[in-house]
Amino acid sequence: MRCATFNILVCLILFISCSVKGQDYIKVNIPTADDESAYIWTTLQDIPFFEKNNYQVNLPAGTLVADLKSKSKTGELSDDDYERLKIFIRDSIYNRSDYLKGYEKIGDEKALINTMINKIDRSNFNWDFKRFETYQINLTLYGPGGSYDPDEGSILIFTAPEGQFKNYDNPANTIIHEIVHMGVEESIIQKYKVPHPLKERIVDSFVFLNFSAILPEYRIQDMGEFRIDPYLKTKEDLKKLDKFVEQIMGENR
Ligand SMILES: [Zn+2]
Repeated sequence: MRCATFNILVCLILFISCSVKGQDYIKVNIPTADDESAYIWTTLQDIPFFEKNNYQVNLPAGTLVADLKSKSKTGELSDDDYERLKIFIRDSIYNRSDYLKGYEKIGDEKALINTMINKIDRSNFNWDFKRFETYQINLTLYGPGGSYDPDEGSILIFTAPEGQFKNYDNPANTIIHEIVHMGVEESIIQKYKVPHPLKERIVDSFVFLNFSAILPEYRIQDMGEFRIDPYLKTKEDLKKLDKFVEQIMGENR
């Protein structure tokens, strides 16, 4: 009998502590050697685009990758090259421990990130902010920086063996930026065919209006696009974001 009471008590305590902690919306993943090879391969194929647009792209050192880079520029990459790359990454480059510091740093910010996700009150908008049950945060040591997949709810985030991230010391800044990208992608960006600089301005303004108090480092990027600024002065203005974007895009026609 005492045992049953004790068990009930333990369950109750667990239940209360879980609901206080709240739901965990993010899962951080360390890539396998083959995951990284696949991503390096995609990056290599896009090298002409990255160089043309002055992107800083991280790739493993060594003659093989240098060779594949020049092959990409002349359109000579083959399936055999991909196989060689996979072996090279597996045998000579990949080290799971290179990801641990970045992994832990994101883990330390989980509570903050979950709080921000909880604070995005979708019922407050006249448009649909797309939310995922769980966001997959995938780490990589390569490529041009962060990216997001609005169909999967996944984020690829660049880290380094010492635990650094691009643009910000605290990875929560980039993670919430990408989560907002995925939220607005369908109902705002694709619907009104919003061009890249305006898209970034909208996402940055959204993050800034909602979270500047808890993310003091967050910066709005300057891409020379300011058309949304007069419409977004307070958090409340985000309610009609769709109407504002529709109006701006309509003025161009
Ligand atoms: Zn962005």
